[in-house]
Amino acid sequence: MEKEVVVSGIRPTGFLHLGNYFGAMRNYVRMQNDEKFNCYFFVANWHSLTTHPDTRELQSSVHRVIAENIACGLDPDKVALYIQSDVPEIAELYLYLNMLAYKGELEKTPTFKDKVRLQPDNVNAGLLTYPVLMAADILIHRAVKVPVGKDQEQHLEIARNYADRFNHRYGEVLPAPYAFNYGGELVKIMSLDGNGKMSKSENQMNTLYLADDADLIRKKIMKAKTDQGPAEPNSVKPDYIENLFTLMRLVSTEDTVAKFEADFNASSAGNVVIRYGDMKKQLAEDMAAFMKPISEKAADIQNNKELLNRIIRQGADKARASASATLKLIRSAIGMDYS
Ligand code: ATP
Ligand code: MG
Repeated sequence: MEKEVVVSGIRPTGFLHLGNYFGAMRNYVRMQNDEKFNCYFFVANWHSLTTHPDTRELQSSVHRVIAENIACGLDPDKVALYIQSDVPEIAELYLYLNMLAYKGELEKTPTFKDKVRLQPDNVNAGLLTYPVLMAADILIHRAVKVPVGKDQEQHLEIARNYADRFNHRYGEVLPAPYAFNYGGELVKIMSLDGNGKMSKSENQMNTLYLADDADLIRKKIMKAKTDQGPAEPNSVKPDYIENLFTLMRLVSTEDTVAKFEADFNASSAGNVVIRYGDMKKQLAEDMAAFMKPISEKAADIQNNKELLNRIIRQGADKARASASATLKLIRSAIGMDYS
């Protein structure tokens, strides 16, 4: 049986956080161990230039993303783990897809509008065509499953459109890619203040990074937003309380979560059983225990430049083999094979 191709990428724009882990990397690790899949995971260094033109930290950031991925369980012998810029075939496909991408529709993309608000002085063409490059990243391996967080859902729809337009114009070459999560629903880990999502480059004091030490984790979690408790038993949880429970479900034992759930459901005005202070303390302990082995392993790998270089070379070879095979089909479909 032919394996399904899987692709996903992470930008080297800072330290990896819980959102990256639970939205993306946790699925990577499960998919690499699933016989059905052939996986390509990459560090999206071209994408980082759209928002991070200063490249002084880029190399160490690229190394860290690779190190943190491996520390979370990714095995470079089982998957292709590579750097985007090592695969020039992606840039060529990006060029072809740009001819199928319309300015008006790119301008309407919500992520583009957000970035324009955030960096009004650097509205570069790369920012506008971000979804085109992302489509090229995926389609270059003819991937059908893309494990990503909820924030990327719309970009996948755009990638499907381009695959469709390409096939319509030049013949069936590119399968339609879909966002994927083992749980079904795509994940969005909210920031601790409940405003937006956790992120590498925004909301940093309200994002939990895999590299944060126990003190910092405690500090961030203890100041997460809570309230006086629910007014009635079995209330619907406000977003920011639901978020604490979501985090707890990720790193604490089932018994711990069940205890605080029961406390919440038993609480009402005048009879508040749930103690958010205790809940946050417990969450901080469990979170720190979850992060510690990952950050230690990542630091070890990051210091081992020889190992990193070997992994990077091996990943580039695997990714280029697949990318050049697709590009051959694409050139031939367009009519660009002259030899
Ligand atoms: P940046 O702020 O630089 O864009 P980021 O945290 O958004 O960084 P990306 O590199 O853009 O990270 O995304 C890497 C992967 O992590 C993607 O699959 C994305 O959907 C996922 N992801 C990012 N943030 C979250 C989040 N808060 N919850 C769930 N998934 C997330
Ligand atoms: Mg992002």
